Amino acid sequence: MPASQAGRRGFESHRPLSAGPVAPLERRGFCLGAAGLPLVVSRRIFPTPPTVAIRLEHAEHNPAFLWRNPEPKPSYDVVIVGGGLHGLSTAYYLARNHGITNVAVVERGWLGNGNAVRNTTVIRSNYLREESMPLYEFSLQLWSTFGQELDHDVLFDPRGMLTLTHSRGEAAAARRTVYANRLHGIDAEWLEPAEVKQYCPIVNISPDVRYPVYGASLQARAGIARHDAVVFGLARAASALGVDLIQGCEVTGFNIVDGAVRGVQTTRGRIAAGRVGLVGAGRTTLLTTMAGFDVPIQSYPLQALVSEIFDQVLPCVVMSGALHVYVSQAHKGELVMGASRDNYLSYAQRGSFHLIESQIQAALELYPIMKRAHVLRTWAGIVDMSPDASPIIGTTPVRDLYLNCGWGTGGFKATPASGWVFAHTLATGEPHALNAPFRLDRFETGALIDEHGAGVSAH
Ligand SMILES: Cc1cc2nc3c(=O)[nH]c(=O)nc-3n(C[C@H](O)[C@H](O)[C@H](O)COP(=O)(O)OP(=O)(O)OC[C@H]3O[C@@H](n4cnc5c(N)ncnc54)[C@H](O)[C@@H]3O)c2cc1C
Repeated sequence: MPASQAGRRGFESHRPLSAGPVAPLERRGFCLGAAGLPLVVSRRIFPTPPTVAIRLEHAEHNPAFLWRNPEPKPSYDVVIVGGGLHGLSTAYYLARNHGITNVAVVERGWLGNGNAVRNTTVIRSNYLREESMPLYEFSLQLWSTFGQELDHDVLFDPRGMLTLTHSRGEAAAARRTVYANRLHGIDAEWLEPAEVKQYCPIVNISPDVRYPVYGASLQARAGIARHDAVVFGLARAASALGVDLIQGCEVTGFNIVDGAVRGVQTTRGRIAAGRVGLVGAGRTTLLTTMAGFDVPIQSYPLQALVSEIFDQVLPCVVMSGALHVYVSQAHKGELVMGASRDNYLSYAQRGSFHLIESQIQAALELYPIMKRAHVLRTWAGIVDMSPDASPIIGTTPVRDLYLNCGWGTGGFKATPASGWVFAHTLATGEPHALNAPFRLDRFETGALIDEHGAGVSAH
């Protein structure tokens, strides 16, 4: 859900796990009216998000209950550029796994203002390539205890994910992924149409529709989590370990001496650094251009939308690559729907209407039950697409400057693992075994890790 949803209810429900159990209905995010019917929540209850200035003012009050809000120090061992999920996760694991706490995360806006809270929270590990599977599987395993580790409920919910197929060719390709996953110890099943219907009763498996369902792959351990809770939990934990989280601090240049980075120039002054990690997602190329080198990243808008709130009707995540639509139901009851990216480059966090129209058309064919649902809200983020739809994690042509980007449409699920391996890389100067194949120079050597088939938009 977008930042607009990080409102009053969000803060109330994101209390430390140590605060004790919450009532089951509240925990599942249900919101029942007097007659036990779902309560439709309108913008009157979740008011229009305030302006950036007001949000930053709010952020200054956050330290009172979640994290400190310090002034930047003149120098740090490590400066991380970008206060999204991956930047925060990296800072957290630098402190937790490596004992490096003289760390700053510098963020041009407020923590989590980018894709961190604009994504649709699908978590899974059923990728195809042997380089990708271990990385995403490690992440999925970290998710299962992430909330306890952060002492902050991130609402991780492994409810299962179906990837529908609509042609023989697509079904064959999906089966191939199922077999590849199993060979790597990742749970994967193939379901025939009747089994799909059993697993998710609202899917239309009629043979008389334009794109009939030929079957689906299932990853039962896949699921969703609550993205703003992950931002809050990571920020809180990193701050408690001594990391400085500096909001409203845009990096505008780099101090590079004899081919090595020695610090960053920011809108809040110069900050010296032993090492710098770039985790700018959709704005990565702006950063690397300032540092004097190019990366093969293109920035595209990616949209999503939510319906009004319903009783729970969708027990799992369902994705359809051919129809370019995927849907899950948030704990609170909104149907959360995504599509493929808009096909033009942009840094504006908005997309075009025709994509929304075609994703709704597809959704209505697949789930006739949704024909009376209303769209409550749409939004977009800017995703950093690499040529092989895989991330870039490692060294750069500038010494002591490291890069973590290219997660494109699928980086939410990788939050724990990405931070873990990038922290290792920053701490030791060497890649972790899991990120070693994801080097920048693979675009020169040709050792590509093609994951274009990984999902609707590789989510
Ligand atoms: C609509 C949508 C749906 C998605 N759905 C899924 C999904 O279902 N599952 C999944 O796994 N992934 C999904 N993703 C992808 C996922 O959101 C991203 O891959 C991931 O969030 C990127 O990492 P991040 O959180 O660190 O990025 P961001 O939150 O974008 O963080 C980057 C940060 O860097 C900051 N920054 C940039 N330049 C500077 C600068 N010069 N100085 C200081 N700070 C700077 C930005 O302000 C930003 O806060 C989706 C993305 C979108 C947009």
